[in-house]
Amino acid sequence: MKVTEHLAQAKDTIVSFEILPPTKGKSIASIYDHLNPLMEFNPAFINVTYHRAEMISKKRVDGSFEMVEIRKRPGTVGICAALMNKYKVEAIPHLICGGFSKTETENALIDLDFLGIKNVLALRGDAAKGEGYFKSDPQGHAFAEDLVRQIVDLNNGHYMEEEIKDGAKTDFCIGVAGYPEKHFEAPNMDTDIAYLKRKIDLGGNYITTQLFYNNAHYFTYVNKCRAAGISVPIIPGLKPLTNQKQLTAVPRAFHVEIPIELSKEIMRTKNDADSEKVGTEWLLQQCRDLLKNGEKVLHFYTLGKPGVIYDVLKQLF
Ligand code: FAD
Repeated sequence: MKVTEHLAQAKDTIVSFEILPPTKGKSIASIYDHLNPLMEFNPAFINVTYHRAEMISKKRVDGSFEMVEIRKRPGTVGICAALMNKYKVEAIPHLICGGFSKTETENALIDLDFLGIKNVLALRGDAAKGEGYFKSDPQGHAFAEDLVRQIVDLNNGHYMEEEIKDGAKTDFCIGVAGYPEKHFEAPNMDTDIAYLKRKIDLGGNYITTQLFYNNAHYFTYVNKCRAAGISVPIIPGLKPLTNQKQLTAVPRAFHVEIPIELSKEIMRTKNDADSEKVGTEWLLQQCRDLLKNGEKVLHFYTLGKPGVIYDVLKQLF
C-alpha cells in the first residue's frame, strides 16, 4: 500500500521507522534483531537508507597507494524485499541522485517495480566523502526534483529509450525530503521551501522531514509550507540523543540545533546510560507535544537505538 493511502485511511497514530543497511560483512539477522521488538507497534512502513560508494586510498603490496571504490552499506533493495516478505510491511527504499546515471536510476526503478515496491523516497544525496560539495554523475541528476521527474515519467510509461512505445506504467508513491531548520546549502528558508514546492508540483506525494529537537521549528516550518501552497502530508522525523558526543556530532551531520535545555541536561550527565535517559524523556515529550498538536504520524530514525524508540512508544501507546 502507498504511504499516502496509509495516511488517508489511518484511524489512529501511524508509526514508522528508518533503518540503515548493516555494514558489509554483517548478516541481515542484525536488521531483524534491531526491528523485531519494534514490530510490536505495527509500523505502517519502514524506510531503508541508501549509501553511495566512496573512494578510499589503499596500500598496494609494493607500498604504493591506489584509490579503490568501496560500498560500506550495500543491500538497500534486498533489505526492502526481505522486510516486505518477513513482516508484511511496506518498505521504502531511499533513492539518491549521487553516483547514479539516469539509465542506472531507470533500471533500479524497474527492479523495484518488479519486486512489488510501491513507495520510494527521492533524494539528491550528499557530497561524496572527500568532495567538498555535491557533484552529480555526468549522466545523472543534479537535484532531487530531477529524480522526481524521472519517477513520474516512468509512472506515465515513459522510458528513456524512445523506441519503447506503450511502456508498462509503474505506480510509485514518491516521498521527498524537507528541512524544518532549512537545508544547509539553501540561502534562506523561503528559497528552500520554493524548491520543496517544485518537488511537490512535479509529483512528490508527501514530505518526510529531517530530524529536529525543537518542535517549534517543525510547527513553523509546516505553517510556512502550507502558506507556500504545499498541501501534501508532512511527516515529522525524530531521533533520540543518547550521549554527549552527539551534542556536536548531530549538528555537524544534520545541520540542526539542539535546544539549550536539552544540551545542558545532557552535559550534566555522568555516563551514556544517564544521557540516554535524558534523550528518551526529551523524545517522549516531543512526541506527546506533536500528537497533542494533531500530528498523525511519528517517524523514527532508529539508527542503532531501537531500545530508546521502544521505551518511548511503550509509554505513548
Ligand atoms: P534537493 O531537494 O535537491 O535540495 C538540495 C539543495 O539544493 C537544497 O539546498 C535546495 O534548496 C537546493 N535546490 C533544490 N532544487 C534546486 C534547484 N532546482 N536549483 C537550485 N537549488 C536547488 N542521504 C543519503 O545519501 N541517503 C539516504 O538514504 C538519505 N536519506 C534521507 C532521508 C531524509 C528524510 C532526509 C531529510 C535526508 C536524507 N538524506 C539521505 C540526506 C539528503 O540526501 C541530503 O540532505 C542532501 O544534501 C539533500 O537532499 P534533498 O533530496 O533534500 O535535495
